[in-house]
Amino acid sequence: MATHHPSHHPAHRVAGIGPTIFATVTAEAVRTGAANLGQGFPDDDGPAEMLQIAADQITGGNNQYGPGPGLPELREAVAADRRDRWGQQVTADDVLITVGATEAIAASVLGLVDAGRQVVVLEPTYDAYTAAIGLAEATVRPVRLRLEPDAAGVRHWSLDRDAVAAAVAEPETAAVLLNTPHNPTGTVLGREDLEFIADLVRGTDIVVISDEVYERLVFSGDGLTHVPFATLPGMADQTVTISSAAKSFNVTGWKTGWAIAPADLLRPITAAKQFLSYVGVTPLQPAVAWALGNADDWSAEWTETLRARRASLITALQDAGLEVLGSEGTYFLITDIAPLGLGISGEEFCRRLPAAVGVAAIPVTAFVTPAAAADPDDPVHTLVRWTFCKNDATLDRAARALASGVRDRFTGVAGPSPDRSA
Ligand code: PMP
Ligand code: GLN
Repeated sequence: MATHHPSHHPAHRVAGIGPTIFATVTAEAVRTGAANLGQGFPDDDGPAEMLQIAADQITGGNNQYGPGPGLPELREAVAADRRDRWGQQVTADDVLITVGATEAIAASVLGLVDAGRQVVVLEPTYDAYTAAIGLAEATVRPVRLRLEPDAAGVRHWSLDRDAVAAAVAEPETAAVLLNTPHNPTGTVLGREDLEFIADLVRGTDIVVISDEVYERLVFSGDGLTHVPFATLPGMADQTVTISSAAKSFNVTGWKTGWAIAPADLLRPITAAKQFLSYVGVTPLQPAVAWALGNADDWSAEWTETLRARRASLITALQDAGLEVLGSEGTYFLITDIAPLGLGISGEEFCRRLPAAVGVAAIPVTAFVTPAAAADPDDPVHTLVRWTFCKNDATLDRAARALASGVRDRFTGVAGPSPDRSA
């Protein structure tokens, strides 16, 4: 008798989704023992007192479901932090605690964007946006950042105002999903660019979802600061602000984030969030609340540490023959590998880099549409993202590996591979 083998097809909304590039590169870094400058998670722990509070909460018995919108003390702390640091006039009622910024993004798109509408995103685009918009059966409308040299000849990314205006004007546009400081480019959008976008959406029913997870990580010494979109005139009513403890306090594994919005926007986001995860992780919330109120000094010191590590990584990459593009924030920077003259894509470079050189990095093609990723004439073809949030030992190991002759290692003329020990 023939056995019937049922065949299972993925739903079309997830059909194109495989393991993320970050997980893939981290696995290859572990397999080869390479210094992992790919996935953006720091080696250093966050503030010690915050960690102790979390441990005490668990051993002290705070281990059951909390209130749906989050613990009141964390919602208060998020609102107070936004008021004190950015002058954003919000209260605890405007705050929903989520399972990381990732859930806040998904719940915002699911709660606010109907199937068939479109969401304007900056490209290169963080992969979770494309996935969340796909899950909502809406369309991604990428607006490519421009890449141009400044007066000193250093190439920087910037907002293409004409392109964003054209995309926002399209009748299908339901939302604009902004990210500043921007992953993967490190671009910090200035007030004028954000005001330009505010002028485009003002008086429309378009919602701005503003992912500000790198709000504390701005490095430029030229007076450049983070500008929360919701603080622009009139924008509080139209904006969902998203952030998280992950990048502010070095706890990417805690998955504790938040969405901040007025009641009519927060209600549908809460409805979606409620059935994605029900509630956030209870015992971590008092610890994050403490950090928001008490860890500004730790934060300032960490930003200074990152600034120094960024400078060393820039030197190591330039010495290795790569072009380093301008980046003002986050813990990422992008290089062009074209000057190495290898004639390969950034994607192939990153696939071979851990085994060939002993370092891991992320190809920028992972942050663009499949069509752009496949186009060898697209400028992102040879771009590669590196993180400098790792500890000094990892960064030193990466610098030694890069100094061992990247070009020669790819062309096979180099000697034994560099020391992989930590
Ligand atoms: N947005 C951006 C731009 C990110 O780089 C990340 C990764 N930290 C997230 C959201 C996700 O944050 P979380 O870990 O809090 O979900
Ligand atoms: N945000 C991190 C990065 O860009 C990765 C987060 C993840 O792996 N999903 O490297």
